[in-house]
Amino acid sequence: MKYPRLLPLRTAVMLPFVVLLVVTLGIIAAAQHSSNQRMLDEMSTRLLHSYADNITTELNAFLFAPFAANNAMRDSIERFGLHTQDSLEKLDGYLLNMYKDYREEFPQISVISYGTEDGLYLGYRINDDDSISLMLKDKRTDMSLNIYKGLELTPTPSFQYEGYDPTIRPWYVPAATYLSSKWSSIYTNADEKQEITITGSSPVFKDDKFAGVLATDIKLNHINRFLADHSISYSGLTYIMDHQGRLIASSKDGYGMINDGQRRHAKESNNAVIAATGAHIESLLGAPLYDVQEFDLIIDEKRFFNLLVPYKDSHGLNWYILVSISEKALLGEVPAIQRAGLASVAVFAVIGLLTALMLISRLTQPVIEIANAARRLADGSWEYQIKSNVRLKETAMLTSAFRDMSARLQHSFFTLRKQVLYDSLTELFSREGLLDEMRKPSLKKQYSALYLLDLNAFRSINDSLGHLTGDRLLVAIARRLKARLPTDVTLARIGGDEFAVFHPDLATPAATEEFARALVDMFIQPFRIYDDEVVIQISIGLVSGTLKPNTEVEWLRNASLALSKAKFQESSRISSFEPFMADETMAKTRLTTEMSRAIENHEFCNFYQPVVSLKDGCIHGAEALVRWQSPSRGLVPPGSFIPLAEENGMIVDIGRQVLLKACQDTQQNIDSGEWPQDFSMHVNLSVRQLMQSDFVEQLKDVIRQTEISPQSLTLEITESRLASNNSQMITVLHQIRRLGVKIAIDDFGTGYSSLAYLNQLPFNKVKIDRSFISDLNDDAQRRNIVSAIINMTKGFGAEIVAEGVETPAQAALLNKLGCHNAQGFLYSKPLPLSQWPTLKVNIGRISPYNDQM
Ligand code: C2E
Ligand code: CA
Ligand code: CA
Repeated sequence: MKYPRLLPLRTAVMLPFVVLLVVTLGIIAAAQHSSNQRMLDEMSTRLLHSYADNITTELNAFLFAPFAANNAMRDSIERFGLHTQDSLEKLDGYLLNMYKDYREEFPQISVISYGTEDGLYLGYRINDDDSISLMLKDKRTDMSLNIYKGLELTPTPSFQYEGYDPTIRPWYVPAATYLSSKWSSIYTNADEKQEITITGSSPVFKDDKFAGVLATDIKLNHINRFLADHSISYSGLTYIMDHQGRLIASSKDGYGMINDGQRRHAKESNNAVIAATGAHIESLLGAPLYDVQEFDLIIDEKRFFNLLVPYKDSHGLNWYILVSISEKALLGEVPAIQRAGLASVAVFAVIGLLTALMLISRLTQPVIEIANAARRLADGSWEYQIKSNVRLKETAMLTSAFRDMSARLQHSFFTLRKQVLYDSLTELFSREGLLDEMRKPSLKKQYSALYLLDLNAFRSINDSLGHLTGDRLLVAIARRLKARLPTDVTLARIGGDEFAVFHPDLATPAATEEFARALVDMFIQPFRIYDDEVVIQISIGLVSGTLKPNTEVEWLRNASLALSKAKFQESSRISSFEPFMADETMAKTRLTTEMSRAIENHEFCNFYQPVVSLKDGCIHGAEALVRWQSPSRGLVPPGSFIPLAEENGMIVDIGRQVLLKACQDTQQNIDSGEWPQDFSMHVNLSVRQLMQSDFVEQLKDVIRQTEISPQSLTLEITESRLASNNSQMITVLHQIRRLGVKIAIDDFGTGYSSLAYLNQLPFNKVKIDRSFISDLNDDAQRRNIVSAIINMTKGFGAEIVAEGVETPAQAALLNKLGCHNAQGFLYSKPLPLSQWPTLKVNIGRISPYNDQM
């Protein structure tokens, strides 16, 4: 059997642990995660701010360099009047020296130059190979801008720019406009290198008059390098943008390129982090952005913490610095270590759970074993052993209790089985035991035979000698049979006085008969019980053949059918089963079914046979005789169904219908004057009807209902059925008599009733059985018997009716002997009421001939 909806013990025990474990791990993971977040937030804020502070300070110093240089140079130019008409010759050496000095201190300075209102220009530029180029425009260069390889004015400069006007250059304009030190915008150099530059420019005055601009350049590349050098050492990123979101410099993606005169915005960067943060900041730039902004973004599925700080200086810079760092960089190996820790806890937990599971499996194993053993027990197997390798107190208790229980169960089962299989009195097999033996596979192949032995008149032995003697007799019979029968024969007592012998191996049908006779012979010798010698005879029903599986019960039934035949056989007390016997039983069953339907459908009807006075030939009574008008069988005589109806009790219903109809018909005919007032209706009554507890009530009902006078009714009861001395029956008969209804003893002379018994019966009439009348011719002995019956009846003060009168001679003789009432074919066969002879009849006028039954 499966229990799909039930939780196994193992699971029930394990489940809470598993749940607890999962929840604990979950809580740990969640707590770890939230503490990580808090730590991240704090760390990122602190780190970003400290870095931003740092870089701002450094940048201040970095960007102050040009103005420091400018201030020193301006001072000298103004004080020493180094700016002369048309020529910057005086300034040459000085500026170069200054440049050299500052280069040492501020490597970010790429160009130092001086442009004048007169359009003169002197500059020194550092080249990639660390050499210094002179850039000059004055009268020495015929007012064209010449750029030289070195510091010498060679005839062939490396670059020549005709019509160069410093005053319109981006580095010149701010100082010239505001007349104070200012940053230029970001622009491309006019020289052959075309580098992107920002210049710190300062005005120079001559005689308090604005004369020119000192310009010190920083290439944006330098700022990039500065940012890269100062960037957070591990995977951090820094960049600078202006207030329009245009990229100025960055630690990762260089400066903002100029495309078609337009500088690139941070959001257009190739670097994903710069692009994303740039876009974010640009969305903020619309709103006033005075203070620091801290934000984090998920970029390419990685989290970045960012800090934006405004960067302003006294020379007109209005920049923003953005510092960014990834979560991964921030946390480093921490998450991985935490994950590994959590994983190892999980692994330990799983190992623990598996161990617990194994342990529980082993612990629950005895329970499962016992359940299996119990199931085997239920299926009838006692052999199953409980295997258990777990020795624990509770399971040992359970196992031992189960073993005790199954041992006891086994004991009581076998005791019970013994009781079922054996007959306790004779110790032979019982009916069940016999069937069990017959079912054994080894017996099935041979030609075998089953004999049922019935002891004739065993009941009278029991009645006369007592039950104890009866039991002794049965034991003695068992012993004798056991002693004389071959050992392979199975012997059983299957009923009170019924024995069964199963012979598994008989060669031929002839041998079967022979064995039956041998069984009969075993009973010739009387049995000695105490001092009595008891002679007993048996009837045998047998069935033989090859016993097929599952036909044992059928064999027993067939043998029983043969036995009932044997009991009623006059010739031989041995009867072998033949299929017709089963057919008879079938026919009986079918008849029973049809009869019960017939009762419901009122298919039974009454025929009436006149009772005639022999003195005057008048009809003064009738006997109601039932007929069955069956749709399938036609008109059925009572002999064909009354015995079966008596057997199965249906006679009660049939009898009731007959009685009612007879009384109705009688009263109607008396009322209509067809029949005389003192007409006597005889109705046959079965003892089974009489023995009903409410029969008298039923009778009263019929009388009330039909308004028949009780004196007109006589109930006939067969003498042989009255014979057993039954006090209840006698009481009922008296009650009937008291109602005024008469009682007739039917078939008188065949029941062998004692006079003493007859004396107790309250009868009014006696009907001499037809067998006496048919023999009643000139045989003097017969005549004497009838005469004796008539006289005896008169002695009881009862009327007498002769049945079955067929000849006028019989009628005459009966009349002479003093019997004046008769019934018989001589006068009329039983007729339906519609054919009832209407005329008053005498002996001569009632026709003996009639087609009806
Ligand atoms: P019974 O009570 O002895 O009825 C008389 C039987 O003798 C009737 O047979 C009747 O037809 C037959 N009989 C009458 N005169 C003659 C004659 O001159 N010669 C011959 N050979 N027979 C004659 P029936 O009608 O076949 O009834 C047979 C038996 O069925 C009855 O015997 C009675 O025992 C039983 N029976 C009939 N009707 C009923 C009934 O309503 N209730 C009960 N319990 N038994 C009934
Ligand atoms: Ca009768
Ligand atoms: Ca009769």
